[in-house]
Order: sequence, then structure tokens, then C-alpha cells
Amino acid sequence: MKLLPRLSFGVGDRFAHEAEAQLAAFERLAAAGVVVAPVWNKSNREHSFIGSEPASVRAAAAAAVATRKWPHPWFIDADHIRLETVDRFLESSDFFTIDVADSIGKQAPDADVKAFVSGHAELGKPIALPGITKVFRLSEDAVARIARKYMLACREAGAIWRHIRKGRGDDVVVEVSMDETDEPQTPPELLVILALLAEERIPLQTIAPKFTGRFNKGVDYVGDLAQFEQEFSDDVAVCAFAARNYGLPESLKLSVHSGSDKFSLYPVIRRTLARTGAGVHLKTAGTTWLEEVIGLAEAGGDGLALAQEIYAYALDHVDELCAPYATVIDIDRAKLPTAAEVYGWSGSRFAAAIRHVPTNPAFNPHVRQLLHVAFKVAAKHGSRYTDLLAANREIVARQVTENIFERHLAPLFLSR
Ligand SMILES: [Zn+2]
Repeated sequence: MKLLPRLSFGVGDRFAHEAEAQLAAFERLAAAGVVVAPVWNKSNREHSFIGSEPASVRAAAAAAVATRKWPHPWFIDADHIRLETVDRFLESSDFFTIDVADSIGKQAPDADVKAFVSGHAELGKPIALPGITKVFRLSEDAVARIARKYMLACREAGAIWRHIRKGRGDDVVVEVSMDETDEPQTPPELLVILALLAEERIPLQTIAPKFTGRFNKGVDYVGDLAQFEQEFSDDVAVCAFAARNYGLPESLKLSVHSGSDKFSLYPVIRRTLARTGAGVHLKTAGTTWLEEVIGLAEAGGDGLALAQEIYAYALDHVDELCAPYATVIDIDRAKLPTAAEVYGWSGSRFAAAIRHVPTNPAFNPHVRQLLHVAFKVAAKHGSRYTDLLAANREIVARQVTENIFERHLAPLFLSR
């Protein structure tokens, strides 16, 4: 098993141009005394939208690590893979996020559920979790109901893990994700899920449940902060309990997906980590692509012109672009400016509309979310887009580094 450090942070780099600028943010954090492992994540869906290959993610990250002489661990995450999509990631990834959300709710056979329940008498007893005052009390029926709902998903995770081990060996990090589903998982459900995953002998180091509240792409958390804090804290305790009692790796920790731009959650997460000593993995992706657009807009000239064109096209194709992300965006179309209006914007006006500074009156979360899901429009422009990134490297890199450091890493990991 390859050990994932206590603190890790996932960055997406859709066009494989920003690895150095992203790494610079981790360097600034390390200089401030906190080493966090960068994990470059890209899903099969993102590769297929852009037409890229998994090897390009490792190549870009490795080049950045070599150029900047990053001396700490780093990883390449095959994000949201399934049995039918994992193969092309085997060679270049050392972190695998096994997505079994689609199998949640498939009914497990009664006999298997019964065997699980009788083999886990401890789950039917009051469980006092370290670090939290309340006691879980799950009836046998409740354990059976949860096991019935999640057993087949956990078995599928086991099958995908064995496939990875056969093709790649076991010197990898394994995460299981259940976030892309409708219902959040409660802490007691997480406990049963971890017991089920342990039965599959998965060397699980991170688990991504679906948390309560909305995790929309590229904008802040929408939900009850006190409830999230309670749930996150209970989930941390559940992970610690499961690692100790079910033989899962000691490094087991929570993974927060769609974690970019969740500014109101970062103080909550930071407090919980400080209080419990737990670790966390937090994934971001499209936030970096938006910084590329902001940098091109700020650069003016051809850069601004392309940013405006991308917006105009996205506005024309809003249904098509939003469809795959319907559950993770909330766009009020009445608040999207017309293409004509945006063509009249200066570079700094355009940048201010999408840069995630909610206190700026020019900030428009609807424009930001639409552009967040519009990266395949930039991909369509091919080298016109990537040549402009190269020509404006400095100004783009500055946006990328500042966004990751100032708005993400520092509030999450530095108390200041
Ligand atoms: Zn996810």
C-alpha cells in the first residue's frame, strides 16, 4: 500500500498547463509550515470531454515536480473510475477513486444480509465513538436495512479493487466514492459501509460519502453549517473507529468531493481536524480552469476575445452543457447577461464577474457556474486556447496560484 499523508488536496488541471502554478501554492503553504500532498485528479468523463489521455496528467505533474524540485509526496488520481473505465488509468495513476454510487440501493440477497448482521453483533450494541459524546444505537433491523442497501455497492468496490491489484499491484492509494447519488449517507450508515468495505479487504485510505447540503460546482456550500459540522465530526469519529476495529488502514480519512470554493466549510473542517488530529482529502477540479479564463480575460486582446466567445457559445448551448451536471449546479438563467453585454466588458470587468469574491458586487455566480461546466467549449478551440495560455503564462499562473493558496489552502490549513 502506498501511504497517503494525513493532509492531501486534489487539484484538477483540465488542459495540463497549470501543474507548476498549482504546485507553487503548495510550496507557499509548506513555507508557512504545513506540508500538504498535491493529488492531481482527472475523471474519465473529463478526459472524454476534452479528448485527453490519463498519461498526460502524470507527464504534466511530473514535469512540474521536477522543475520546482518538490521534495514531498504527490499523487495522480484516477477519479471516479469504474470496472469498465479503469484500464487506461492503470499505468499512469497511483491513486484510484472507485465510484460505486450507481450500485447503491441494489438489493443484496437476504441470506448475505443475515450473515453480515450476525457476524457484526458489535453494530447492534451501543457504540461509544471516541471524540463524540453521543452514543450510536443501531437496532439489528437498522443494520440489516443499511447492509441491504450498500452491500452490493461495496462488493463491486471489492471487485474493482482486485482488478486494479491484478493489473497494477497494491502499491497504490484506494478511495471509494459514494457522493454522486441523491441521498446523503448518515454517520451510522458510513459505519456499516466501512464494515462492508473491510470485508472486501480493500486497503481503504479515503472514503467520499455524500454529505448533507449542496456542493455545487465552483460556488460556496449551501446548507446548514451547524448540521454539517456535527455530521463531519461524527464521520471523522466513525473513520477512526472503523480503522481500529475493522483492520482498515490507520490512515483512513474522509474525502470531500466538489470541495473547491466551499469557503464557509473550510473553518469548520480546519477546527475539526485541529480538535481530533484527523486528516482529510479535499478535491477540487474546475476552479483552476476558471482561473485560466480569468487570466485570459485580464490579459485583454486575443485572450479576452476568446473568453467572451466561450461565454457567448456557452450561453447558446446552456442546456447541453448543464445536462451532465444538473444535480450540482444552480443557475438562474434570468441572471445570465446577454452575449452582447459581455462583448462590451473590459477584461477586468469580465474577470470580476467570475472570480470567486462574493463580496464584489460585480461577482455573478450564475456566469461562474455556466463557465465552470463549459470547459469542453475551450477544448473545441484546441491550440487556439492552449497557445493563448502559453502566451499569457505569467498572468494565468498568478491567478491559479493565488486562487489555490489564498482562497483554498490557507483557509483550510492555516490558522490565521
Ligand atoms: Zn466526486
